[in-house]
Amino acid sequence: MRAITFDISLPRIAAAKILGTASSRAFVSTWAPVRCQHVPDPRLLGGDWVLVEPRRVGICGSDVMQVFIKAGIDNPLSAAVSAPHVMGHEVVGTVIEIGNAVKRVRKGDRVAVSPLLSCAPRGLPACEACQHGDYPLCRRFFDGRFAKGMQLGTCSDVAGGFAEAMSLHESMLFPIPESVEFDAAVLADPFAVSLHAVLRAPPEPGETAVVYGCGSLGLMAILLLRALFPKTRLLVIARPRMKSLVDRLGADALFTSQDRELVREIGEFLKVPLRTPLFGSPWLQSGVHRIYDTVGSSETLEIGVRITNPRASIVVVGVAPPKRFEWTLLYFKELALLGSNAYGLETFGGKRRNCIETYLDLLAQNRLNVDGLITHRYPLEHYANAFLSAHNKRQSQAIKVIFDPRLKTPEIRTEAKIERALNN
Ligand SMILES: [Zn+2]
Ligand SMILES: [Zn+2]
Repeated sequence: MRAITFDISLPRIAAAKILGTASSRAFVSTWAPVRCQHVPDPRLLGGDWVLVEPRRVGICGSDVMQVFIKAGIDNPLSAAVSAPHVMGHEVVGTVIEIGNAVKRVRKGDRVAVSPLLSCAPRGLPACEACQHGDYPLCRRFFDGRFAKGMQLGTCSDVAGGFAEAMSLHESMLFPIPESVEFDAAVLADPFAVSLHAVLRAPPEPGETAVVYGCGSLGLMAILLLRALFPKTRLLVIARPRMKSLVDRLGADALFTSQDRELVREIGEFLKVPLRTPLFGSPWLQSGVHRIYDTVGSSETLEIGVRITNPRASIVVVGVAPPKRFEWTLLYFKELALLGSNAYGLETFGGKRRNCIETYLDLLAQNRLNVDGLITHRYPLEHYANAFLSAHNKRQSQAIKVIFDPRLKTPEIRTEAKIERALNN
């Protein structure tokens, strides 16, 4: 079968890095670490495993970081990756074969996939974190019968979803309700990541929350804050091109400027005075109560500490290469800077369940509208253009880019194209 693989080969990484300084195409050329190639068909890895045909698979920001080799050479998480591996962790598909001990699903079921390779898929007794449903904090990502790897797309023994078929442990599967289409279900993973991030420090009624960034995580955070925390005042910081979408999703205000201008505009919106230092940008002494930072760069962190209220929480769920930022206000305002990684079980609305189940349930109840968020669909063999579209969204006008392994040719529907079609 065909699959998109990633190889941690130093010559390939060096070639892509050197040639990549001239053009980002080098990172998806035939000599780059990422390739679309024929690999052996997957097989059931145990009696409680199933084979799934991936029908829609999202390209995540972390996939883009990986393909375009953006992480620092000293990134500690390289310790938790085995290679070569098949990429792709935002998967929905159809069960095509089941092992003799499978109880959760049947052949033909449509399923959403939790990608974590924690104790249960590894066939190990649950560690303390897994007992509590905190699967991203599992202590056994390095142990058991499979090579190390936190989730699908980082493990050489359990292949990811950029493929025509894949083998999954039944604990990773969540049946998709009949009324929910694959196109909506495929956003389960980014929604679940954002839900966990928001629940790390949920806003109180009447408080002001900021969603920083408008990639998949940011958009899902806006949607879920509107659906589940309607009494929160919701501000968004993103690029100007997101304006109509952010309005449609129901944010109270969008800020598109940067640096000191951004701080000034937010201060004006909140009607609070600016504090002006001798050098550098101004800051607010009274500001927003929660920031869900889906970018996680030095710039967004620094704006974050400048625009928050004392004792506010900043949840960092985005992943960007680390750099210096001016963090003095972190101690001065007694801020809480919280990390957030992936998702597991959460208690919300009196129920304790996987964040994926919450998402599918909200869709089935028509409480979320995710129409139009998928703009670019590619067959696997068009992976170069798929990753380039996801990498340079300003140029491609992409919102969400996905693979549809059954597709023959790419399908692109950007707002600009739709508008042009309507005007003709
Ligand atoms: Zn993801
Ligand atoms: Zn565990």
